[in-house]
Amino acid sequence: MRGKDVRLDKVSIRFGEATAVHPTDLSIHAGEFFSILGPSGCGKTTILRTISGFIHPTEGRVLIGGEDMAGKEPNERPTALIFQNLALFPLMSVAENVAFGLEARGIGKAERLKRAQELLELVALGGFGDKKPADLSGGQRQRVAIARALAVEPSVLLLDEPLSALDLKLRQHMRTELRAIQRRVGITFIYITHDQGEALAMSDRVAVMSRGRLEQVAEADMLYADPATPFVATFVGEQNVLRGRVATLAGGEAGVDTPVGRLQGRTSGTLSVGDEALVMVRPERIALAGTGENSFPARLVSRSLEGPSVNLDCAAADQQFMVTLPNGPAIRELPEELSLSFGRQDALVFPVGALANG
Ligand code: ATP
Repeated sequence: MRGKDVRLDKVSIRFGEATAVHPTDLSIHAGEFFSILGPSGCGKTTILRTISGFIHPTEGRVLIGGEDMAGKEPNERPTALIFQNLALFPLMSVAENVAFGLEARGIGKAERLKRAQELLELVALGGFGDKKPADLSGGQRQRVAIARALAVEPSVLLLDEPLSALDLKLRQHMRTELRAIQRRVGITFIYITHDQGEALAMSDRVAVMSRGRLEQVAEADMLYADPATPFVATFVGEQNVLRGRVATLAGGEAGVDTPVGRLQGRTSGTLSVGDEALVMVRPERIALAGTGENSFPARLVSRSLEGPSVNLDCAAADQQFMVTLPNGPAIRELPEELSLSFGRQDALVFPVGALANG
């Protein structure tokens, strides 16, 4: 199987008066694991259904492998779709389920079952062909659905929150499985989710969406380390957010006067001295030491154990701060009065207005 690239060229989608997706350009590379991440109602499913051909764009074009998909029905496209409530046929064996789509293509029974067996091996269910779906676990059924979707040899597999019906442990296991299957088959996977952990764990690149717009398209680790907008900064991972006023600007850095004093951070935004601004710093970038720049006294209010890490809930100048530290013996000995600090490269400064789009 060969992956194809998918391109949205100025695609917008309206339902009557309501705009579900504002004009959007997006290039998904052949053979990559690409996720679209965003809160409920932001337009993810609408984009996926537009790629698969169940919805037609109001404006713009969808191209797959360079070919314009205008006028092509879902079954004429090199795509297959898997969604949350996958429906396996309960009376058919697992192998018959996988082979189902091949019959319509005029492939003989022996060849169909041979192909089903190969696909079941691909999803690590080689010995399960004779079982019925009811005999399998949720995760195994999910893998059968993937094998069935792959049977028609799509170039692009579209996955709409396929793990959301599974329990947490299984979901985490299936992330690794899905990633491994994608690597093995080498086709393009486009995965829709509202779960940032899922998107970051599996994807080569992620698009973050909010209110019908793409906020940022980047490699998973870059989204976390270098969010382009306040929405991405707060949707992907935890942030401490402080409001203040810009006092200095120089060399891509801003000094912001906040309730805990002047804080320095990186900025790429369009800020001027005197503007209201947001300073954001991740809980794990805050240290419990330091007296110089970006340090201030705080009070330890409570702590909660997360296994390998500990979250400290701290208060400074009526502001709440979350601090995440590796778990260890020293955590039990912490005094109530602390000093918090962080490096200027670990803080991001955004204009306040920019959050309005979130
Ligand atoms: P969820 O995770 O809840 O499925 P989503 O990000 O996938 O959310 P969409 O289902 O794409 O969001 O919906 C985007 C917007 O378009 C929503 O406001 C939704 O109400 C609207 N919408 C989607 N489909 C239709 C439709 N067929 N008719 C009218 N409005 C629609």
